Amino acid sequence: MTSSAPSVPLVGSLAELRRRVADWRARGERIGFVPTMGALHDGHLSLVEEARRRAERVVVSVFVNPTQFAANEDFGRYPRMLEADLDRLARVAADLCYAPAVEEMYPPGFSTGVTVGGPAEADLEDRFRPTHFAGVAVVVAKLLNQAEPDIAVFGEKDYQQLLVIRRMARDLDLRAEIVGAPTLREADGLAMSSRNVYLSDEERRVAPALHRALVAAAGRISAGEPIGHVMGEAREEVATAGFAIDYLEARHALTLARIARRQDGPARLLAAARLGATRLIDNIAVEEAR
Ligand code: AMP
Repeated sequence: MTSSAPSVPLVGSLAELRRRVADWRARGERIGFVPTMGALHDGHLSLVEEARRRAERVVVSVFVNPTQFAANEDFGRYPRMLEADLDRLARVAADLCYAPAVEEMYPPGFSTGVTVGGPAEADLEDRFRPTHFAGVAVVVAKLLNQAEPDIAVFGEKDYQQLLVIRRMARDLDLRAEIVGAPTLREADGLAMSSRNVYLSDEERRVAPALHRALVAAAGRISAGEPIGHVMGEAREEVATAGFAIDYLEARHALTLARIARRQDGPARLLAAARLGATRLIDNIAVEEAR
């Protein structure tokens, strides 16, 4: 199947990206954009398909962004497999893969940052990865200025990130419409992630317990059980399965403010937890009472 799909042009330079995008725009075509760090799985491809539904042309970036990793994180061993990524992108007929070198994105002398507040200071991911969203904000602002897409698609898998980027795009008047897309999961519920390859067989067997606990908790909160009690039990369940929990919390789905009661607003359950050396994140919506 991969061999029959036309190959996807690979571009490494900003000048060439701009030339290609300008040609499409001159023809009146809308540009969709999907930023990724590569090691593409079906979740990423579903974002490409979402972009395709909203735009005539879809650009996918593959860039493992050093500035969003802390020194103790997995930048060095993050999976890199550009050839396989290009094959996968061909299957969903992406129009262009933009894979700049680190020096193209951060030439010597690079010294500018983006300060993100609001959802970036929700005391969730930011508590455990205090420099992460500043790195994400810079690279996403750069990528959106480089490709100048009409729409850019981000996964709800990284829910706090999606809200941070929405906020930044609004605050900095970036022209792209930010579109959120649902999380794709393995058959047993585990959210697809490039980092799932780090899991041992035993950890992979345990991993879906995180999603199971979120689903059970969301159902109970929807049914009217008190949030504090339900989340406490969910934490116990996840810890018993073998995870070390960073956070597992109910928050307001739009602001990420803490909520004590279901009536406090649309709720989202967000979790990060470690299995051995692998850190998994996941989140789900709490269905609103009908
Ligand atoms: P990453 O390459 O992990 O930085 O992710 C690139 C984009 O894909 C981000 O917008 C992620 O939220 C999104 N993404 C990652 N995993 C999934 C998934 N399982 N389903 C849908 N989107 C995802």
